[in-house]
Amino acid sequence: MGEKSPFTLAGVMGWPVAHSRSPLIHNHWIARHGLQGAYGLFAVEPKAIEAALRGLVALGIAGCNVTIPHKVRAMELMDHVDPLAKRMGAINTIVVQRNGELHGFNNDGFGFIQSLKDAMPHWSAKTGPAVVLGAGGAARAVILSLLDQGAQEIRLFNRTPQKAQQLVEEFAGLGPYQGRVIAHPWHERHGALAGAALLVNTTNQGMHGQSALALTLDDLPTQALVFDAIYIPLETPFLESARLRGNTTVNGLGMLLNQARPAFEAWFGVNPEITPELRHMIVATL
Ligand code: NAP
Repeated sequence: MGEKSPFTLAGVMGWPVAHSRSPLIHNHWIARHGLQGAYGLFAVEPKAIEAALRGLVALGIAGCNVTIPHKVRAMELMDHVDPLAKRMGAINTIVVQRNGELHGFNNDGFGFIQSLKDAMPHWSAKTGPAVVLGAGGAARAVILSLLDQGAQEIRLFNRTPQKAQQLVEEFAGLGPYQGRVIAHPWHERHGALAGAALLVNTTNQGMHGQSALALTLDDLPTQALVFDAIYIPLETPFLESARLRGNTTVNGLGMLLNQARPAFEAWFGVNPEITPELRHMIVATL
């Protein structure tokens, strides 16, 4: 690479990308730490992703986040992929190295686990069975990070059973995790909440513009922690019902904020904090 610029640039590549809250988060931290830099939105069509990634090096950009629909294709274009991201099968963060190599990471699992710990400092994945709804990109990050944290039993439910089964087989292939994730038919999800210590929604049901998640919580222990990856709205009908029956609930905002921290540190050299001020600023835009 050429001369190192005193002004550090980063951003997020997606299609569409205008809705992303990442610029608000990173530019807040840049200002708070008095850094010279900026974080922008890069609207990159799928056919242009390779050229856009190569452009990072040419422009001296420190790196970027990648979001839908680029998370899998971008991974294939990296010079090096972090082992955790490789196991997840997708990246969400790219760091341009001094020698111009592109290194890919995935911080979604870190964001998820950290958001649970922020809500319940003594939370442990080993407490008891987890129920996970959904088998898309967010589910991959959630399941793998729960397994890495020592979860022994994950009951997985997805509307399309083949996708859940595919995840089970992938994770079983990771040696020590064989038999820990079991897929069950979607219609059996209500009764499967009995004895659960953690309930996670990673489907898009309950998101702004979507129907509410259809789930009867009667069998869920009230001590179970309940997480929804959705953050628009901040409290989905599912989270509201869980809260009203006495469960501790966590929305997806903490996951979003926490996944941004390691990326910011890699690009700007400062480990940033999630302050109430930052949370309020983001909430005001939702
Ligand atoms: P995705 O890969 O498209 O997966 C969507 C999931 O929703 C699939 O399991 C899908 O099931 C399920 N689904 C869709 N319509 C459904 C319906 N009518 N009934 C039941 N299930 C349905 O999406 P993703 O990237 O995993 O994202 C999922 C959610 O997590 C989104 O709301 C997203 O905003 C949120 N998210 C939050 C964060 C964060 O930082 N907080 C990060 C990532 C994602 P099928 O397989 O049957 O289609």
